[in-house]
Order: sequence, then structure tokens, then C-alpha cells
Amino acid sequence: MKLNLLVVAGDGIGPEVTNEAISVMRLVMSHGGHELAVTEKRIGGIAIDTDGTPLPADTLQAALASDAVFLGAVGGIKWNALPPNTRPEAGLLQLRASLGGFANLRPAFASKELAVNSPLKPDIIDGADILFVRELLGGLYFGAPREWNKDTGEAWNTMRYTRDEIVRVARIAFQLAQKRRKKVTSVDKANVLEVSQLWRATVTEVAKEFPNVALEHQLVDSMAMLLMTSPRNYDVVLTENLFGDILSDESAVITGSLGMLPSATIGGKVNLYEPIHGSAPDIAGKNIANPLGAILTGALVLRHSAGLEAEAVAIETAVLKVLEAGFRTADLARGNTSFNVLGTTQMGQKVRETLTSQLALT
Ligand code: NAD
Repeated sequence: MKLNLLVVAGDGIGPEVTNEAISVMRLVMSHGGHELAVTEKRIGGIAIDTDGTPLPADTLQAALASDAVFLGAVGGIKWNALPPNTRPEAGLLQLRASLGGFANLRPAFASKELAVNSPLKPDIIDGADILFVRELLGGLYFGAPREWNKDTGEAWNTMRYTRDEIVRVARIAFQLAQKRRKKVTSVDKANVLEVSQLWRATVTEVAKEFPNVALEHQLVDSMAMLLMTSPRNYDVVLTENLFGDILSDESAVITGSLGMLPSATIGGKVNLYEPIHGSAPDIAGKNIANPLGAILTGALVLRHSAGLEAEAVAIETAVLKVLEAGFRTADLARGNTSFNVLGTTQMGQKVRETLTSQLALT
């Protein structure tokens, strides 16, 4: 197969980690006789500097014409003084809205090798493997009316969902659970909120289409605690927008570093893939950024936009093997001298070497 990938590497460490991810994807795809056709465009601060806008029209056009979009990161101190709607981050929000993805997938995982990076006890998190499916276009962030009335000293937002918005994201959660451990935990606040009662009733209805997947409901407040005390109990966690924002960041603690986590936004015209971290201006240009979140994002591209599951698993396995062998970037080693600390490009190279010997065995 041929995958037409638009790469918008962006600012700060974006280009550094993206380079490593693309070369890992290229290696694994070419081994299987597949072609990765990459087009590169500007987004974020670099686009403001050269094109005067954080999302140039040709970038958006190329995104809509591609099979998938891979984003590094946007933002930086240089552009912080700009008004919010012209800043680098506005370009990313516009891109997300134009691509229309409504299901944001964020894995959180831990293994013996990663457990040392987490402040949580290894025996609690070892083996945790959760996939958050967060609704991205509805709820409190988009609902109207919304206002801050400075005259009266009141402000309000609206948590609104339609049945159809819940059905489409729930179906994605159940479909993904079918390929995993066949359990969906739907999170809401149905003891207090009507919108959560609709959420719970609709998810229960959708579950009937997937009789081989177990469904449980949890209230968001107790779920925040359960994720930290028994993360191994969860497979796919389905949430509305705000609850998912909070719970998926909380669960990043399980994996231990922002630099490890990939994400995918699917369901719209074109899927958008990005490591969850930002442009990390404090470490940009130093060749010390962790590229593993971006490399694991590459695995999600292969899984969700190219149908190359074996290749996606090969990348994920290679990353774990590199960690098992004691290699770390500085954010993961945190001064622990027992690790072999690698820079960004060296870590990318180590993953490619591991993949090459892994693929030679298949
Ligand atoms: P950040 O994720 O860039 O950095 C937070 C901390 O984590 C920093 O100490 C950074 O050095 C570290 N870190 C992040 N990624 C890392 C990696 N791969 N390897 C090693 N360490 C890593 O978040 P921030 O500092 O709040 O934001 C910096 C800029 O990025 C801001 O302009 C912000 O708006 C932007 N941002 C962009 C995105 C995006 O593009 N999706 C997401 C979040 C923040």
C-alpha cells in the first residue's frame, strides 16, 4: 500500500522528534513492501514567521488531500505575546476543527521497564494498558450559551451533547475494544448531570451492538481515584470531552513522561496524529528530546490509517525492547546513572537498529 502522509513538524522539538518517527515508519513500511509518501508543510510559529498565519492555506489544503496528518508540536516563547487567535496554537485548533476528528485516542501504559519512570508504585502499574477514547468536538468546550459577563460578575458554559454525537464516539470505543481486551468503561456524572444520563443511556444502547464487549459505567470522581489505585482493571475508557481531558492527563503519570505518549484523532475527514507533548522550548535544539512518543505516534498512523497492524506492533515492540535493554533519554533517566542515556537522534537510531534485527527474524 501507499500512504500519503502530510507532515507538519511545527516548532521547538517538533521537527527533532518528527524526523525520528518518520524514519522509523519508513523503515518498517519499506520492509513490508509499502510506500510512505511524505509531503512537508508549515504550521505554528514557523508559519507565522514565513507566511504571516499559523495555518497557511496550502497547509490546510495539503492536509485535506492527504491520507493522514502527522503533527510534531507548535508554540514557543517567541510568539507568546501574540493575541490568542493568532498564536501558533490557534493553527493547531483550526487544523483539528477542519479535519473534523471527534474521537481522540490516547493510550496510557506501563511495564516493568517504564515503572521506574512513574511516581506510582511499580506493583500497581506494571502491565497497565489503557486506551482513552475522548469525545473531542462536543460538551462544555463547545456548548452554547457561553459567556463571562463582567458587568454582572457571572460566567457560564454549557455541557451539551446530542444522542448522535454520543453514538458515533461510543461505536469507535467498542470497535477498538473488540480488538483489545473487550471491555469498555464509560465515564460520566449521571448521579448529578442530565447530559450524563443521556450519555449513559446512549452508551448502554450502543453496547447492544457489541455483545462480545463488556460495558461498565463509572462516575468520574471515583474513576479519578480508581485509575491510580487499580489501573490494570481498565481496557478502553470512553469519556466526554472535559472528563477525558482531565483523566487522560492524570493517567499520563502511569507512563511516567510526557515524552512517551502518542495520540490519534480519528472519525473526521482525515485522521490527525500527534505526540501529546508540546514544543518544549526549554530543551529544543539540544538533541535531548525524547522521540519515543512521536515514534509510538507513527505506530498509531500505521494501525489506524494504513491498516498495518503487524507493522504498528513491530514499532511498539522495538520501543519496549530498547527500554528493556536499559537505554533512556534524559527525561526518562532522571539522573539515574544505571541507564545508558541517549540523545534524540541516537534513540531514533537505536529503535531502527532494534527493528532491523526484529524484522530480520520474521
Ligand atoms: P511541553 O509539553 O512542551 O513541555 C512540558 C515539559 O515536558 C517541559 O519541561 C519539557 O522539556 C518536557 N517535555 C515535553 N516533551 C518532551 C519530550 N519529548 N522529551 C523530553 N521532555 C519533554 O509543554 P509546555 O512547556 O506547557 O508548552 C510549551 C509550548 O508548547 C507552549 O507554547 C504550548 O502552548 C505548546 N504546546 C503545544 C502542544 C501541541 O503542539 N500539541 C501541546 C502542549 C503545549
